[in-house]
Amino acid sequence: MSNIAIIGAGPGGLAAGLILLNQGHQVTIYEKDPRVGGRSKRLTFGPYHFDSGPTFFMYQPILREVFEKANLDFDKHLQLTPLDPLYTLYFNDRILKPSSDINQTKEVFESVYPGAGDDYVKWYQKQTIKFKRVMPILQKPFPNIFHFLRADVLKGAPVLHPFQSVFKYLSKLIHHDDLIHTLSFQAKYLGMASFEAPSVFTILPYLEHMGGLYHVEGGLNQVNETMAKLFVENGGKLHLNTKVDRLWIEKRSVKGIISDQLQQSFDDVVLNADFAYSMLAMTKNKEVKTYHHQKIKSMKYSVSAFMMYVGLDTIFDFDHHNVFFSKSYEGYLKRLMSASSDVSDMSFYMHNPSKIDKTLAPKGHSSLYILVPVPNLDANIDWKKEQETLKKQVYATILEKTGIDITKHIQMEQILTPQEWQDDFNVYKGAVFNLTHGFDQMLHKRPQNKFKQLKHLYLVGGGTHPGSGLPTIYQSAIITSQYLKTKKA
Ligand SMILES: Cc1cc2nc3c(=O)[nH]c(=O)nc-3n(C[C@H](O)[C@H](O)[C@H](O)COP(=O)(O)OP(=O)(O)OC[C@H]3O[C@@H](n4cnc5c(N)ncnc54)[C@H](O)[C@@H]3O)c2cc1C
Repeated sequence: MSNIAIIGAGPGGLAAGLILLNQGHQVTIYEKDPRVGGRSKRLTFGPYHFDSGPTFFMYQPILREVFEKANLDFDKHLQLTPLDPLYTLYFNDRILKPSSDINQTKEVFESVYPGAGDDYVKWYQKQTIKFKRVMPILQKPFPNIFHFLRADVLKGAPVLHPFQSVFKYLSKLIHHDDLIHTLSFQAKYLGMASFEAPSVFTILPYLEHMGGLYHVEGGLNQVNETMAKLFVENGGKLHLNTKVDRLWIEKRSVKGIISDQLQQSFDDVVLNADFAYSMLAMTKNKEVKTYHHQKIKSMKYSVSAFMMYVGLDTIFDFDHHNVFFSKSYEGYLKRLMSASSDVSDMSFYMHNPSKIDKTLAPKGHSSLYILVPVPNLDANIDWKKEQETLKKQVYATILEKTGIDITKHIQMEQILTPQEWQDDFNVYKGAVFNLTHGFDQMLHKRPQNKFKQLKHLYLVGGGTHPGSGLPTIYQSAIITSQYLKTKKA
């Protein structure tokens, strides 16, 4: 048994905490906030509740595996409602509603051009093979280049197309921009554009189409709240309002944690706080060989998110998930990736959970969430100035595309910009989807779950292998706990 500290009670930290407890370790979580969840915590403004970040819950087998490894009954603690259609997509000339039923989505595609239904089925079949080959690679640690010689990696290589982007890969299979965007906007879950994300990530839309999307009552934040409750019930120690200031490092070995309240020694430390922020804030420059401060600043980071949390005195009949595509989607993606300060004609996502979940707002009211992917703090955008412009643009687009003027029903409105993601959530550059996922920052090139540069330090969360979405974050907790499973103090 080892005495383990976890820094951060985000989804990665909580999942690792539950598994490590069941392995018999003594586990203490230090969380700087008064509540758990990090980027996916609950936000409450008066009587309205919101998810701060994630709203797309896909590929539930991985969270089930976390519960299994923690010896907990998933179905007893979490109730999921399947969503159909998956989402409503607003393009210039049409609205599309893909489903998790392959035949229904085939018809949706066929409605755009004759033969598109068959193209979709071909895409689906190819992704089924890709998914089976890629998953084993992501489920294991990838600490060095020699892992390319593993049997599962060699088997997966032919379907990986490492030098092809999602967009290029799809353009060969599907022959209409709206349909390509239907199967590629998910690259934004990684904070990347479809023309730069490696084609392996076409498994993201596949996970939605194959496994469906789900709503958790109260929002995805409730997964964290539930895990935190179970963590404490099972003997874990959870210290809220406790910021860790530094890693206690001696001779390239982590001895514990340091905060203004205490210096505490531990056998091992699991880091869940944003990786780049942590290296800059919790280690001295050059204390960590590969990830010295200059290196951290020069790595590639995802886009950020401009958030609008809006309380309404009515419930609109919008779908649960909605995506509004820019008039010129490619133009928008290019501006986004080049950190342009031009925030006109933006694409955005709107979440309307109150239609099926009455726990989020007073009776007859609703909590609406809008996310506009925007450049991170590398872009020279004065958010105090631009936020009004962007807000008005979003409301005007909703009116134009749906005929509904939501501004007449607003009871509360809270804005969150890349600056607050950095200042309040400790997310470096406000890059909410973490390090980008090009092959230069994936697999053995991503900071490793068992941190190579410092003994007794382990990583979980979006900044380590395998990546930054919730399923991969839960996977990182499984990999890290596997390393610690047999550890003795
Ligand atoms: C707007 C938005 C939308 C997203 N949508 C989706 C989605 O739909 N689906 C999906 O799969 N993913 C989504 N993501 C990505 C990802 O799933 C979430 O960001 C997720 O919360 C990241 O989890 P994490 O465990 O890596 O880190 P975090 O959630 O950031 O958790 C880190 C924790 O560390 C704490 N901490 C930081 N500094 C300290 C310190 N010094 N001392 C102690 N504690 C500290 C933080 O308060 C936080 O609780 C979204 C992210 C955002 C921001």
